[in-house]
Amino acid sequence: MISVSEAEKIILEQTINLPIEDCPTPEAIGKVLREDIKADRDFPPFDRVTMDGIAINYQYWENGQKKFLIEGVQTAGSPPFTLQKPDSALEIMTGAMLPTGCDAVIPVEEITFEEEGGKKFATITSTKLVHRQNIHPQGEDRKKDDILVSTNTLLSQAEIAVAVSVGKSTLKVTRKPAIAIVSTGNELVGIDEIPKPYQIRRSNSYALASALSNVGIKAQIWHLPDEQQVIEEKMSEIFRDFDVIITSGGVSKGKKDFVPLVMEKLQIPKVFHRIKQRPGKPLWFGKKDNKVVFGLPGNPVSTMVGLFRYVMPYLRKIEGINNKPKQFAVLSEDFSFDRELTYFLSVKIINKEGKLWANPIPGHGSGDFANLLDCDAFIELPAHEKNFLAGSVYPLIPFRNI
Ligand code: AMP
Ligand code: MG
Repeated sequence: MISVSEAEKIILEQTINLPIEDCPTPEAIGKVLREDIKADRDFPPFDRVTMDGIAINYQYWENGQKKFLIEGVQTAGSPPFTLQKPDSALEIMTGAMLPTGCDAVIPVEEITFEEEGGKKFATITSTKLVHRQNIHPQGEDRKKDDILVSTNTLLSQAEIAVAVSVGKSTLKVTRKPAIAIVSTGNELVGIDEIPKPYQIRRSNSYALASALSNVGIKAQIWHLPDEQQVIEEKMSEIFRDFDVIITSGGVSKGKKDFVPLVMEKLQIPKVFHRIKQRPGKPLWFGKKDNKVVFGLPGNPVSTMVGLFRYVMPYLRKIEGINNKPKQFAVLSEDFSFDRELTYFLSVKIINKEGKLWANPIPGHGSGDFANLLDCDAFIELPAHEKNFLAGSVYPLIPFRNI
């Protein structure tokens, strides 16, 4: 049996290659960029006016002039005017290019307008002006040809906005992995079925698929009975068509736990089986060709620990995201666990004074998946300690946004 950190290291070393594909930029949220995005122009591309008001030549105001003749109106989206008389002004709107001859913009709130003899004048009421005020200078934010977004960035709305602004209608991204979720168990029935007294409805596949859909992956779901032959036939088909296969159940030591045996029959080499942890000890991991199999134990809490502790970081890695820095939380009360196993404790997270506090809600074991309704995360308590003291800090594995 290997430790949690060994398992993590081994899994993250067994990467598979996912192809790069073109994705329409408006649909690229949540995908991983596989090219650099460069600025096609300066940001902003011209001296951009940032207030509705008037544009003047600053020097005249500094020399004591307060009243300016309005020569015209320049709105956003029109070519720049040129100030005809240097002591006049132009009415100007946010987003317009700074008119030639102007070098200060005074907002409407600091102006009174009046009409005299069919002409419009503006009087500046503010007593303080600064040269080039309310002008967002060309190239202040980024320069033409700067790399704005580097390859391997996970795309958020911020990157989408920048990509479209430089005219990129498609982006090179990592193709999302094709994932199959295969649950096993004769005691499990579907959502719409009425379970017999000795049956339950299967839920793991939907928990797994929902968590994957949250990171933009649409997985396909199968359910197989605990029959070696059936699992073998179906798994060999599924293995052909998918990059990552996640099984749930059938990996422990029961008489009907066929997943490890089937993998052996299908000649999918085992990388390891079993991790020194609770819950989720019997996890099986294998790799063949450019594909991997995560055999997660069926107890629903174990399945979630396996997913969030190992599968999710693995998916980030193969998609090309540099792994996220670990998150941590402070244990809010003493907790004991006296086995030499890493313990994944279910916790409710409270954000207090800028710190994440983890309140233990241990529940009734790995079958108690209703307990997760009250929790946000697991914290990872190391195998070599038995008593975990309030105030100590431990790695956090969230399964909700916190
Ligand atoms: P197994 O890992 O197959 O030995 O299953 C361990 C426990 O988890 C058993 O009590 C199963 O009934 C339960 N279990 C397995 N798969 C699922 C599933 N897909 N949904 C809910 N419970 C499951
Ligand atoms: Mg089973």
